[in-house]
Amino acid sequence: MKKLTCRDLGGPCDAELVADTFEEMGNKSRQHVVEQIQAGDESHKLAADRMTEATLDEQKAMMAEFKHKFEVAPDV
Ligand SMILES: [Zn+2]
Repeated sequence: MKKLTCRDLGGPCDAELVADTFEEMGNKSRQHVVEQIQAGDESHKLAADRMTEATLDEQKAMMAEFKHKFEVAPDV
């Protein structure tokens, strides 16, 4: 299991997300952001909008950065 924070994945808060694979981490991150937006949190909505509005190249660069963070994160 690896642990990253919402902030590590481009989000605005320090909520901790734990997952076995990068794909699972991505799902947990999306789920967390959706939950926060549904709870009325503006900062997570802005982060989600930024992600949606990014170009494909920018999105690829972000994904590569997140994947790298996941790979170097210590096992928990
Ligand atoms: Zn968050």
